[in-house]
Amino acid sequence: MIFKILVFGVVVFIVYTLFFKTSRGTVQNSAKTKKRKRDTDSDTMVECAKCSVFVSEKEAIIKDGKFYCSKECAGVK
Ligand SMILES: [Zn+2]
Repeated sequence: MIFKILVFGVVVFIVYTLFFKTSRGTVQNSAKTKKRKRDTDSDTMVECAKCSVFVSEKEAIIKDGKFYCSKECAGVK
C-alpha cells in the first residue's frame, strides 16, 4: 500500500515536472519552441555525402535527401 502511494507520488511528480517544463508558456510558445528547435538544428553537424566534410545543417545544401558542404559537391550550378 505504501509502495503504491510512493509510486503514485513519483508518477505525479514526474508528470508535474514534465508538464511544468513543457507548459512554460505553451500557449504562446509554439513559435518559440519552433525557433529554439531551429536553433538547435543549426548546430547539428552533417557530413557531406561527397567529400565527407562536416558542415552545419544550416549551411549544408540538401539535394535528394543528402547533405552537401557546397554547391560544387551537390552538383548544383
Ligand atoms: Zn563536400
